[in-house]
Amino acid sequence: MRVMESNSRHVACVHCGAVNRVPAERLGDDPTCGRCSQPLLSGAPVELTDANFDAVVGKTELPVVVDFWATWCGPCRAMAPAFAQAAAQMKGRALFVKLDTDANPRTAGRFGIRSIPTLVRLDRGQELRRQSGALPAAQIVALAR
Ligand SMILES: [Zn+2]
Repeated sequence: MRVMESNSRHVACVHCGAVNRVPAERLGDDPTCGRCSQPLLSGAPVELTDANFDAVVGKTELPVVVDFWATWCGPCRAMAPAFAQAAAQMKGRALFVKLDTDANPRTAGRFGIRSIPTLVRLDRGQELRRQSGALPAAQIVALAR
């Protein structure tokens, strides 16, 4: 039986940029990239950069939560385990990405990030909402729903 278009999702590979089509029922089964064989949705946060941010978040048909952070930011580091926990809980249902605002000023500037940590929820690159300040895992999960 043919898989209907509406039952699959495009997921951009954070490693090579290839856009993969993943059947909805396989999203939680550790799908791998058809081009580079790396995990597409590992359930762990992925680091994006100015170079690949737009391609990945714009071409992935899943909710995306971005953690704008920096290495010197204590509250950011303190929130990292909660962010990872939320990513694991939403494995296959949402993509959790981190953007280092010092290393990637172009993307941080475009989003007008004034304080960190700031979490931004995107759908296909469009901002739906944002929340500044460190959050517990349950609230990060809520942002992804
Ligand atoms: Zn790939």
